[in-house]
Order: sequence, then structure tokens, then C-alpha cells
Amino acid sequence: MIKERISELVSNLPSGVQLVAVSKFHPLEAVLEAYGAGQRIFAESRPQELLSKVNALDTNAYPDLQWHFIGHLQTNKLKMVLPHVTLVQSVDSRHLLDEIQRWGCANGKTVSVLLELHIGAEQTKQGFHEEEIVDLLFDAANYSHIRFCGLMGMASHTDDEATIDADFDRIDSFMAYLVDLFPELEDFRQLSIGMSDDWQIALRHGATMVRIGTAIFGSRQ
Ligand SMILES: *Cc1c(COP(=O)(O)O)cnc(C)c1O
Repeated sequence: MIKERISELVSNLPSGVQLVAVSKFHPLEAVLEAYGAGQRIFAESRPQELLSKVNALDTNAYPDLQWHFIGHLQTNKLKMVLPHVTLVQSVDSRHLLDEIQRWGCANGKTVSVLLELHIGAEQTKQGFHEEEIVDLLFDAANYSHIRFCGLMGMASHTDDEATIDADFDRIDSFMAYLVDLFPELEDFRQLSIGMSDDWQIALRHGATMVRIGTAIFGSRQ
């Protein structure tokens, strides 16, 4: 089942768009089944769950399996997450970025990140506002141990396609604006938008990564 869903999704993604399989609330067996179907990038949103999967995995047997972090990250949990991920998609505050920079310096590592833009209607949703991201990227040179790779966003939680379309249009336009304004940030090219219910819309707005859980693994317990 997981295998068929992955092949179906992959066949619908243009080349250059990466499928990120969101395995939160699903067991490691599901991750390994997806790996068997050719999936290589997985994402988790809770530090403890990421860590238990990483620890249970025989990493030598899966050297090319990558993890992304996509949830709200508290600075006291950095040590649980940063050694194990190739991308933190959900950097949502300057404080978090400063702490990641500090960890990178202390550990001699450069951490790849996406900046999360607040685009949906939800009041509670995490993320930066546009002007905060512009200010931050003007300071990018000060973050010696951070690789700025692009933006992540989540559309409003709604069935209304026009609203989702407008949300994704906004982040897509902002991405283009940033690429123009900061040509020196050569890695700043990734746009992570689109989940199980809205990835087709995201593809029309320049998604380079889609983060899909339910449509691969089924509903979460
Ligand atoms: C859970 C989650 C997803 C995947 O959601 P689905 O609707 O199950 O595809 C994508 N992005 C983030 C940030 C998530 O927390």
C-alpha cells in the first residue's frame, strides 16, 4: 500500500520536486517500507519521536536515509535534533536561529535551514512575517554556520481552494523577491509547500519540496 502510494505520488511530481515523507505518529516499520519503495527523505515534527526512530534504525544499513525536522523546535531540544537531520525546515524565530548558529560553531557543523513564513489564517501558527525574514537575511553573513536554503510554509487549514491558492501565491512571490534581493545566497532556492491535501496546488506555485504524510502512510493515530 505504502509502495503504491509513493509510486503514484512520485509519478505526479515534476523532476526537481522532492518528496518528503512525513512519518510522524507512524512506526519505524512504515519508514522502512517506504525506504524499500525508494523513498529516501523522511520528516518528523517532534524531537523525541525523531530520536527514538533514529536510535532504533541501523544507520549502517540505510546510509542514504535522510531526516528533516518540520515541527516547532525548542532551543533546549536542539541537541536531540541537529546531529540527525540534513535540513531543519521549521526555523521560526531569530532566537532559534541564533541557538542553531551557536550549536553549529560549537560542533563544527553547518546547519541547513528553511525559514518558516507565516502564511495561513490561523492565529496560532508559527512562523516569521515577511519583513522579519528580509531583516534576517540582511544579516545572513553573520550566521557563519547556517546555510539558508529557502522557505517553508503551511496554507490556511481550509477546503477553500482559492484561499490555499492565495496563500501559496504569496509565499511563491515572496520567494522570488528574496532570490532577487539576495543573489549572494546561492543556496536559497527551496520552497517547501504542499501537504497531502494541497500538494497539487503547491506545484502550481513553484514548490520544490512537498511534505506528505497521510497520503503515504494513512491517517495518524
Ligand atoms: C504533519 C505535517 C505535514 C504532513 O501532513 P499531511 O496532511 O499528513 O500530509 C506536513 N508539514 C508539516 C509541517 C506537518 O506538521
